[in-house]
Amino acid sequence: MDAEIIAIGTELLLGATVDTNSAYLASELAKAGVNVFRTSVVGDNIGRIAATINEALARADLVICTGGLGPTRDDVTREAVAQAFNRPLEFHQELLDQVAARFAAFRRPMSESNRRQAYLPQGARAIENPRGTAPAFLIEDQRGTVVVLPGVPHEMRFLFETAVLLYLRDERGVRDVILTRTLHATGLGESVIGERIADLMEQANPTLGISAKRARYELRMGAKATSVEEATAMLDALEATIRTRLGTYLIGDEPLEQMVPRLLAERQLTLALYEGHIAAPIYRAMSANPQGAALLRGVVIHPLDEAADEGASVALALSGAASVSNRWRSTLGLGVQAAGTPNESGFTAVSVALVFPGGNRQATRYFDLRQPDGWGFVSTLGLETLRRYLLEPENPAPHET
Ligand code: ATP
Ligand code: MG
Repeated sequence: MDAEIIAIGTELLLGATVDTNSAYLASELAKAGVNVFRTSVVGDNIGRIAATINEALARADLVICTGGLGPTRDDVTREAVAQAFNRPLEFHQELLDQVAARFAAFRRPMSESNRRQAYLPQGARAIENPRGTAPAFLIEDQRGTVVVLPGVPHEMRFLFETAVLLYLRDERGVRDVILTRTLHATGLGESVIGERIADLMEQANPTLGISAKRARYELRMGAKATSVEEATAMLDALEATIRTRLGTYLIGDEPLEQMVPRLLAERQLTLALYEGHIAAPIYRAMSANPQGAALLRGVVIHPLDEAADEGASVALALSGAASVSNRWRSTLGLGVQAAGTPNESGFTAVSVALVFPGGNRQATRYFDLRQPDGWGFVSTLGLETLRRYLLEPENPAPHET
């Protein structure tokens, strides 16, 4: 079954409201195995809504609209659907009774404009809306089905889950399941990861997509099957293949900023930080997570007094790490120091040093710290240095970024 989504509301076109309804419906329909090939946004205008519905019905079997069901004059979705189906609007006393009962329940007078909500296009089936006043509805002809849901996100979600999914399953025989799973990876460049899994990204089912943020990668897998068991088995097999391709660069199903504090806590290791810049990237990353904040013994944030070159920044990161772990008696000390000025291409050398019982490790990378998320890359390097140590305390694997 192919579906399209139409989000209705002038506020969406003006950018005043972000259209989260379409994103929700797209992901839920995907999980139900329904293909969504297009979504549209249209303002509160009868002619344009009707035209958009007609165009969507020419392509898809199912069209889900949200918004414009309220009592006010600018809520015109009912009229527009009636026009698209070339049918009159009909008054339904039982719908007016439901609206009236809701107003009575919260002791508010119902206004005359609420009468508008008791009209449905001829032949439409009402979907009761216990979460709000606007009755939703479903209407069919030989072209396909249009489902009309309210715009208020929690009402829309409730009706989708309780009514629309049942309709799709019981009356339209939608039986497929799509399961998704996200894996995290780091420590390799995006192009290197991309090359190692390129063939897997071309498969139609299961699918694999990658997105990058601050040198951390999310690998999104999706499998479509006729049962949860079958889809799970497909995802397991794909995950195993990815694992053999990426080895220890694959973190697993939790992100780096969650995994590192968890492993430190499990191994009862404590940490102190030396941050050579007020951006304090590692402190920010560790303290964003309650488990991470709990195992921090102390933090020194010490902006450079005078410019350091690359060699000096390595030495400062290392001595900073040693001094904080000594001062607070933490198992591990991590120091970060950026050189004072960027090189001619705009990249700044940043050194990260880890001091642990019996040794130390350090890494220096070049980052464009003028980028809005420049320090985010530094936090990835710091957390990745910790993760490498936790994986292999004796024998560091190379960090390839
Ligand atoms: P009501 O009966 O509450 O008026 P309605 O069906 O008329 O419901 P709208 O008036 O179109 O819905 O929208 C109600 C509110 O829901 C809007 O103010 C907006 O905040 C939110 N909303 C509408 N459409 C969307 C959307 N596509 N994504 C996110 N929020 C939305
Ligand atoms: Mg409204």
